[in-house]
Amino acid sequence: MEKNERTDSIMPRVQKRPEMPIIRRKCYSCSKMATKPYVYHVVPSYSYGAQIPVYSKSDVKTKRVDLRGNRRVLVYHYCNRECYENRKPPEPYEI
Ligand SMILES: [Zn+2]
Repeated sequence: MEKNERTDSIMPRVQKRPEMPIIRRKCYSCSKMATKPYVYHVVPSYSYGAQIPVYSKSDVKTKRVDLRGNRRVLVYHYCNRECYENRKPPEPYEI
């Protein structure tokens, strides 16, 4: 009695992968897409004589990334620290 039944292809294994949000950012230095970017924030400093708001705990908080105008924070993405060293972000006064 011959058996030609195939048992190996009946149940294909479906690999379940947990969905991970992949952050892809273009590297400022080498223009490659970095999936785990090294993020550099350029926070402008207050110019001399400017009125620096006094920190108050009850004040409405603004995320520094949401700041606009001359208080805007510049964000630079890099693959890693090496790329950062290769092309550092311009100083705020150069922009
Ligand atoms: Zn890079």
